[in-house]
Amino acid sequence: MSITIKSQSELAIMREAGRITCGAIWYAGERIKPGMSTMDVDKLVGEYFARHGCKSCFKGLYGFPANACISVNEEVIHGIPKASHRLKEGDIVSIDTGAAYKGFNGDSCWTFPVGKISDEAKALLEVTEKSLYEGIAQAQVGARIGDISHAVEEYCASRGYGIVRNYCGHGIGREVHESPEVPNWGKPGHGPRLVAGMTICIEPMINAKGDDVKTLKDGWTVVTKNGSLSAHFEHMIAITPDGPVILTQP
Ligand code: MG
Ligand code: MG
Repeated sequence: MSITIKSQSELAIMREAGRITCGAIWYAGERIKPGMSTMDVDKLVGEYFARHGCKSCFKGLYGFPANACISVNEEVIHGIPKASHRLKEGDIVSIDTGAAYKGFNGDSCWTFPVGKISDEAKALLEVTEKSLYEGIAQAQVGARIGDISHAVEEYCASRGYGIVRNYCGHGIGREVHESPEVPNWGKPGHGPRLVAGMTICIEPMINAKGDDVKTLKDGWTVVTKNGSLSAHFEHMIAITPDGPVILTQP
């Protein structure tokens, strides 16, 4: 699929899709506590979307069975919400979801602490979130995707963190996943050039140690191979002549 350029009126819809998406993530994220199941978290996301007159664009996407991907600790992405998976103090939980709104889609992810977390987990969340903003700062008209990719990689790798290379960010619009791919590693000055009206998702998936991941037998849940913690932060942004605009800002 080619890269789609959105008109001002399309961007206005995507802004709304982004606003509802981050609303759902924070509505659920702020209610997370020990003893809750990942299915409970998914229900909160679904509730929020229903109250805002829309649905999750994740449900049914490639056959995904829930409103949100909920990934805990060593789970990197695509965790399936389960009533049997209870959260406990010290866990880190990523909520990855998007609103399907008036023909367009949102997509964002945030990793939340459950109660008090270890210093190692805290540092991982901080570095991953900051690397997202390092990437966003490069998303200027005339720059290239590789500039974003390199900024994320440089920030995390220089601090000894592992960058998940099997998955990456993407363009977004009428489809949840559009061109171009937005990797979390790469060379400055390489890849597609950024043009005003592009909307992309930048989403570093960062491991405390090592890059390697594997998919569990459920066919969905991606985990770190060595069991180390993994964090995931994602914003949907619009490329504009005035610089990057975050569409999923809390
Ligand atoms: Mg995404
Ligand atoms: Mg996402």
